[in-house]
Amino acid sequence: MNLKQYNSLYDLMEAFPTEEACVKHLEKMRWPCGIVCQWCGCSRKFYLISRSHRYKCADCKREFSVRKNTIFEDSHLPLRKWFAAAWLMTSHRKGIPATQLERELGVTYKTAWFMHGRLRAVMETMNEHGGPMDGEVEADETYIGGKERNKHKSKRLNAGRGSVGKKPVAGLRSRKGKVKAKPVTSVNREELHTFIRANVVPGTQIYTDEAPAYNGLMHYGHESIRHSVGEYVRGQAHTNGIESFWALLKRGYIGVYHHFSWKHLHRYLHEFSARWNMMHLTSGERLDAILGSAAGTRLTYQELIA
Ligand SMILES: [Zn+2]
Repeated sequence: MNLKQYNSLYDLMEAFPTEEACVKHLEKMRWPCGIVCQWCGCSRKFYLISRSHRYKCADCKREFSVRKNTIFEDSHLPLRKWFAAAWLMTSHRKGIPATQLERELGVTYKTAWFMHGRLRAVMETMNEHGGPMDGEVEADETYIGGKERNKHKSKRLNAGRGSVGKKPVAGLRSRKGKVKAKPVTSVNREELHTFIRANVVPGTQIYTDEAPAYNGLMHYGHESIRHSVGEYVRGQAHTNGIESFWALLKRGYIGVYHHFSWKHLHRYLHEFSARWNMMHLTSGERLDAILGSAAGTRLTYQELIA
């Protein structure tokens, strides 16, 4: 387990001063019990081609490096830049846009955009393997999107206020810390109940506000509080945890990304959730969680957020 704290990009680059250091780190994560041939699966004997950090398998005579079968495989970028990008994306609580990766890493916008997309996809798969929630869980929904009055006239919907022009998102936060969020087509009973059933172990205690869509939740304990009459906490019943996540998500929407493309809304939600779920980790653990998942080993992350 990597308990190191890299407090700045400079710290990180000092810890990984060369491509070699990065290769060794990835190898240790990927092959904890020794190198495995990426072609024939054997682990008997290898010849090191040190100039290119590649191995030649003594059995099948084929070559491979630690990048083989990972998201780094078809990239010619030095691993140090990938490590830096992974650190940047997991260390900024509200996320960082591709334009900032471009500046900090000294790469073209196209490259930064590619890295950003790849790492976000990694965070997406990390969430999908997080397992269901149990114990006590807060359920809530929110709307993501710009204020109608700030939009150009041609983009306004002219149909009232409130949730108009925004996208509904359903969310869950386990009292153990983890969150899950997903775009829904509407916040009706069927969609919210389906989302809960898909992600929460039956028998779990659920806390919500008074939204009627949560009524009749079968196979779960359910307590709601009445925001409409100024009630925010009653005993254990409150939704403050999921609301802090919504607040962070909205600050990211407004301050960092300025806009989420609706088509990719689920990706942003995954990105923010994965980061939230790693908040209690050291920056070294967060780095390993994302690099490990990028290299096809999901174990680290699952262990860390279990
Ligand atoms: Zn082989």
